[in-house]
Amino acid sequence: MNVLITGGAGYIGSVCAENFLNAGHKVTVYDSLVEGHRAAVDPRAHFIQGDCLDRTLLPRTLRERDIQVVIHFAAFALVGESMRLPGKYFLNNTVGTQAVLDACVEAEVKKFIVSSTCATYGVPEGELLVESSPQKPVNAYGESKLLVERMLPWYHKVYGLEYVCFRYFNAAGASSLFGEAHRVETHLIPNVLKVALGQCEGCEVFGGDYPTPDGTCVRDYVHVEDLARAHLLALPPGKCGFFNLGNGSGYSVLEIIRACEQVSGKTIPFAIKPRRPGDPPRLVARADKAALELGWQPEIPDVAKIVATAWDWHRSHPFGYGGVG
Ligand code: UDP
Repeated sequence: MNVLITGGAGYIGSVCAENFLNAGHKVTVYDSLVEGHRAAVDPRAHFIQGDCLDRTLLPRTLRERDIQVVIHFAAFALVGESMRLPGKYFLNNTVGTQAVLDACVEAEVKKFIVSSTCATYGVPEGELLVESSPQKPVNAYGESKLLVERMLPWYHKVYGLEYVCFRYFNAAGASSLFGEAHRVETHLIPNVLKVALGQCEGCEVFGGDYPTPDGTCVRDYVHVEDLARAHLLALPPGKCGFFNLGNGSGYSVLEIIRACEQVSGKTIPFAIKPRRPGDPPRLVARADKAALELGWQPEIPDVAKIVATAWDWHRSHPFGYGGVG
């Protein structure tokens, strides 16, 4: 199929593009390169530098490339930043997605696959989150994505645009080619691995007094290649709706630091710091719906293996994409 991937130069988008190309699809990557890297664009893909808010270039690209499916990753995704700059999130994530949806309608695209997040749930009431759990975000990032979710059924109802919306839990790990590299790194695993690489003396743990077994936040880390494969399973006509993508097991910040120590063989010093605004104590998925309706099963559910793929990538790319793009 002819697939356009917004944010295809970013972390999850680059791995998704690689998987779609491997599966024989024709991929156009559309990315502003504000966060993404030119070097993260698979050389087999056609690349267009553009902004999702460009209401001329995007619909034109969709028509010219005869696009049947749009996979929309392009978004800002930092919880901490969203609590300082909420407008940046509502403009790029919410209004930006609305522009992509309009472009899809204009260019008669048949399917829209979009990234959402476990941050739309807020502070969970039970142990595991299911798709029908209450959605009460506690950070502006989660709210910006919840607003995206609210638009999708209306575009389906009014224009027949089929959507699959994935609520990712914590994307982690790497493919052999593409991994997690942000110009300013705030994510846990890359930050901890920087210490293992000798690039920092220690890492920071945001909050040691949460109501969790060791007092640090618990997250469900899911391999980026497993996330990418879910998008392939969403392609058949008739697949539509909201799906959690997670492994169903939670790991605390301290457990992740220990996993990084084990895989790297290095001691990783850390300091407990104040809580980061907007962080729920625990976010762990039930992903039965994706298993049942899409046939999705994580192939790399083991957190030690997930961290090992991240370590391999960071060791072979110690400076990320090296300032390229
Ligand atoms: N975290 C931390 N130190 C860091 C980065 C993150 O303690 O240097 C914590 C963060 O507060 C959260 C968890 O690790 O509880 C995962 O954070 P990350 O930013 O990787 O993903 P998020 O859950 O925000 O999407």
